[in-house]
Parts: sequence; C-alpha cells; structure tokens
Amino acid sequence: MSGKRIAIIGAGPAGLTAAYCLSKNGQQVDVYEASDAVGGMCKTLELWDQLVDLGPHRFFSQDKQINELWLEVVGKDYKLVDRLTRIYYKGKFFQYPLKATDALKKLGALEVVRSMQSYFSTRVSPPHNDNSFEYWVTSRFGKRLFEIFFKSYSEKLWGIPCNELDADFAAQRIKKFSLSEAVKHAFTRPKNKHNTLVSKFAYPVKGTGMVYEKMKDAILAKGSHIYLSTPVKAVSQNEHGSVNGLYTMDGAFHEYDLVLSSMPLTLMVKQLPTATEEVKQAVSQLKFRNTILVYLHVEGTHLFPDNWLYVQEPDVQMGRITNFRNWIPDINKDSNNTILTLEYWCYDEDDVWTASDETLTKLATKEIRKTGLLQGHKIIDSYIHRVPRCYPVYHKGYKEALAPVIDYLKSVPNLYCIGRYGAFKYNNQDHSILMGILAAENILNNAGHDLWNVNTDYESYQEMSVIAETGLITTS
Ligand SMILES: Cc1cc2nc3c(=O)[nH]c(=O)nc-3n(C[C@H](O)[C@H](O)[C@H](O)COP(=O)(O)OP(=O)(O)OC[C@H]3O[C@@H](n4cnc5c(N)ncnc54)[C@H](O)[C@@H]3O)c2cc1C
Repeated sequence: MSGKRIAIIGAGPAGLTAAYCLSKNGQQVDVYEASDAVGGMCKTLELWDQLVDLGPHRFFSQDKQINELWLEVVGKDYKLVDRLTRIYYKGKFFQYPLKATDALKKLGALEVVRSMQSYFSTRVSPPHNDNSFEYWVTSRFGKRLFEIFFKSYSEKLWGIPCNELDADFAAQRIKKFSLSEAVKHAFTRPKNKHNTLVSKFAYPVKGTGMVYEKMKDAILAKGSHIYLSTPVKAVSQNEHGSVNGLYTMDGAFHEYDLVLSSMPLTLMVKQLPTATEEVKQAVSQLKFRNTILVYLHVEGTHLFPDNWLYVQEPDVQMGRITNFRNWIPDINKDSNNTILTLEYWCYDEDDVWTASDETLTKLATKEIRKTGLLQGHKIIDSYIHRVPRCYPVYHKGYKEALAPVIDYLKSVPNLYCIGRYGAFKYNNQDHSILMGILAAENILNNAGHDLWNVNTDYESYQEMSVIAETGLITTS
C-alpha cells in the first residue's frame, strides 16, 4: 500500500497483531521469529495427546477494539470457561477473589481480629511511603494481610523483597483495590449480568495458541511472510541514525524502511550502533525473570476444581499450579488423565534455572504431594519447558534506568518497540495485542499514538465490552 518495506521481529501476540492489521490493510510485511512456531509465550503445546498452554492463559479485556479483533480472528471457535482460582496458604485453600465468610473460616477469628487491628493501626499511623510494592499494599490492607496474601507470592515471582519492588506492579495489577472494596465485594453479589461475566472468560477451542495460528494463516493469505527459526541479531541504522534494516543471526543483511521489534529490549538496544555508552549502561540495569514450567501427567480426571492456584505458601518454591482439565474438554481430547503445570520463577544465576529435568521433576513431585491435591493419584510422566526473560522486573529504580533508554529510542526514526519483551512492560496478551493494533495504526494512518504510554492499567477510551457465548456485549 505505502510501498514501505516493513520487518517485524517476533511472532508473539504483539508482532503478529501488528502484522495481521498491516496485512489486512494491504501493507505486506516480513515477520522474523526466532523459534519454530508462532504465538510467543501464548503458544499451545501438544503433550501426551492433549493441548496445554505455557501456564494459565486467560484472555480478558473490556476494550472493544481488542475484543473485536480477537473475535474477528477466532470466529466462533471458543467456549466460555468458569473461572475458579484459589490461594494456597498454610495448608488451606482460600477463594480468590477473597470471600469474607471463606477467609474468616480459614483464617480463624483471632487472625481476623489481628488483621483488622493491623489495618486500623495503618490507617492511624500510615507507613513511610518509599514507593515500594510493600508500602502500596500495606497502606491499603494493613501489614498482616500483606504478609498473609501478598508477600510470599510476590517475592517468589520477582525474586526480590517486596520493599525493593516498585509500586508500579501493584498499581497496575491490584489497581484501585482496597480493604473496604474487598470487604464490600466479599459481602455483595454482582448486580448485573456483566459483572457476573467477569468470572467467565473466552477460551479458544484449541488453546490460546490457536489465536496466533489463525492470525498466521490470515497474514500468509495476504501475501506477507513469516520466517520461523530465523532469529534477528541486530537492527541496523544508517549514518543519520535511521533504521534501514536488520541482520539475522546467520549474518545476512535485510533492507527495510521500518522495523517493529518485540525482541527483548535489552538485547536490541545493546546492538544498536548509535546507542551511547550511557544508554547501554542504563539498559544493562533492566532485568527479566525466567519461568520454568514443570508439566506433570497425572492419572485420573477429578483432582481439584481450580483452573489455577496461587501458591502463597512460603514452604514450597512453586508459585502457581495450573490444572488444564478444568478449562474446556476440547483440549483434553477424551483422555483419562490430567495435565498439571507447576511454575518456578528464577534468574539466570539461580541453581534451579540450570537444574536437570530429573531434579525439577523430583522437586515438583515433592511439592505437589505436600499440598495434598493429588490424593493417591499416580504421576505417570513429566515434561519441563523453560521460558527465558518472560517477566520484566519492576525493581525500584527501573523507571530511572528505562527513562534514558526510551528517550534515546524515541529519537530513532522508523523503529517501533512493542510487546512485553520489546517495550519492557508487564503486559498480558491483551496489552500486547493493543500495542500491535496501535503500531499498525501509526504506520497506516499516522495516528500518532505514543506506544510508550500504552500502560497495562490503561482505561479504554472506547466503549467497554465483554465476550459472551453469543459474541460481544457492550457494557457501557
Ligand atoms: C506463565 C505465564 C502465564 C501468563 N498468563 C497470562 C494470562 O493468563 N493472560 C494473559 O493475557 N497473558 C498471560 N501471560 C502473558 C502473555 O503470555 C504475554 O503477555 C504475551 O505473550 C506477550 O506477547 P508479546 O508478543 O509481547 O511477547 P512474546 O509472547 O514473548 O513474543 C515475543 C516473540 O519474539 C520472539 N523473539 C525474541 N527474540 C527474537 C529475536 N532476536 N529474533 C526473532 N524473534 C525473537 C520470541 O521467540 C517470541 O515468539 C502469561 C505469561 C506467562 C509466562
């Protein structure tokens, strides 16, 4: 359409959405993907004749344009899942979101009184605001509830104490939630059907990866290209600093007028010829956290009812357990067995990251048995999947490190950084989809969206909507 030669690095939700929107509007693109499949962290694996995602992947958005695009791609090939998630703590399973009667029963009256005292003493004498995650949660819920429901899980996820974690994480993920709202929520029933729908989510019949397989087919049908198993080494710039192409890992140079990158921001910036030492120094302070997924093939079908469980229990290393049996029957394919996955989060330098498959299987087996969730069910087999650099770490000081990097990247013409890796944002797939949509609009219509300002806590400026069995329902 514009005659511009456009390359996209990464075929995850951000890169593929951009490719999908551009191709649909007549602009051909070339997508370079390091792995041998599309979908990025949203791919679906075939394991023991069943389909599983990389941990729990619930698609949920209230943004009309994101939901419309999702439905355009998925069509009618989805079902609604009833969400059931609980928190595992001190050998007990708490309903999530918290329900007052349930929490009261499981914590015991004494702990509830202590928690309330702790909450009121926080109101009377608020903690020092050091802009940390710990401050953010404690000032809203009190220290005791912070310790029971937030501390251990967050420290497992991020690998740093909660007072070293930036409040951004809480602001984005626990946004606008306070004890009074939690209590109100716990005692009241949703007033209209749309609130009820929030406890359901749409899930593709062939797993989350199906969305991106379908996008791939649509992109190829429009004449664009997707090069799998073709990692990009570096983005190239001309003598004026404008992007003029990229180098693939085999050393070949490919000329382009525009590049959209969803490869890790840290790796991309370090290779940019015009990045100054100061920018490279700043980017080297940004960290990503890795995930190890230990899949267990377990005999039997009715182990426990949750889609996934948050493991707040400090005595075990695992952080989350997903039970794929409780999503939709289509992915279980009549099997008599269940697939669970246990998540372990770590840095490159942690022993667990380099542990053998055998060691990880033993660890996961010991920990899942400890929860009592398996009762007597036998573990038949295991499979380990390692995902490097999947969580951008919002440690205190990350914003100061990121700021000069963003300033520099804004000065590089023809380069768009999108996605969770690519823009160093703790995106869910809907946020990465949105970044892809907006990047395409900038290219097609000069829309002028500031992609660095697409935050995970953005408010939809469009009509609100949810995906129901019958399609899209507008909620406001
Ligand atoms: C355990 C887990 C659970 C999650 N649960 C949910 C959930 O419930 N709901 C939800 O919405 N989201 C969830 N997410 C987040 C979701 O997976 C991500 O938000 C989404 O995949 C981000 O898309 P992306 O395109 O930005 O990045 P990615 O999916 O990471 O895609 C980036 C792509 O770039 C490729 N790439 C990297 N480097 C290069 C290179 N040099 N050259 C070429 N290609 C390269 C990668 O191989 C990858 O395919 C979860 C993530 C994890 C890890």
